[in-house]
Amino acid sequence: MKLSVERLFGRDVDVIEFDQRLHLRDELADRYPEGVRIAAAVRPMEHGVYIEGVVEGKEVETCARCLEPFVRDARVDIAEAFSEDVPAADAPFSDVAPLVGREIDVNELVEQLLEVDEPIAAVCEQGCRGICPMCGANRNREQCECRDTRIDERLAGLAKFMQEPGAK
Ligand SMILES: [Zn+2]
Ligand SMILES: [Zn+2]
Repeated sequence: MKLSVERLFGRDVDVIEFDQRLHLRDELADRYPEGVRIAAAVRPMEHGVYIEGVVEGKEVETCARCLEPFVRDARVDIAEAFSEDVPAADAPFSDVAPLVGREIDVNELVEQLLEVDEPIAAVCEQGCRGICPMCGANRNREQCECRDTRIDERLAGLAKFMQEPGAK
C-alpha cells in the first residue's frame, strides 16, 4: 500500500488518518497469516511528514524451548519522520526517512518495524519447561523417565575432586 501525502503540502488538509488491515509478503506472510492492522495519523512537518500510530497483529512463533508453535500478540508503535531534504541514498544512515514522490510505502514501513520487533528467543510461556535433551519429550505435556544427567555430571566432578591428592 502506497499512501500519497501530497494533500498535506497544501493548506486544506492538516492530517491524514487511516485504520486498515495489511497483508504482508514473503516470510512475514507466514508469520502473520491474518496480516496486521495499522492505525495511524500523518501530519505535515517542514519539508516532509510525520507518521504516528500503531501496528498490531497475531504472530505465529515457534517456542525457543519446546519448539511448539504459538501465537504472540505483537504491537509496535510507529513514530517516523519522512523528509524531502533527505536523499534516498542517505536512508540507511538517517533517523529521518527520505520522502520520495510525496508517497509513503506503508508496507515497507510496517515490514521494517516488524523485523526490528522480532524477539530473538520467543517462549510460549515464561514457565515453559522445554523438551528433554535425552528423549525429546515435551516436558510441558509429559514426564519422561530420563535422569537429569547434568546433576550426575556435577556429582561426578565432585567425586573426582574428593579423590585428588591434597584436596582435603
Ligand atoms: Zn514452549
Ligand atoms: Zn526424556
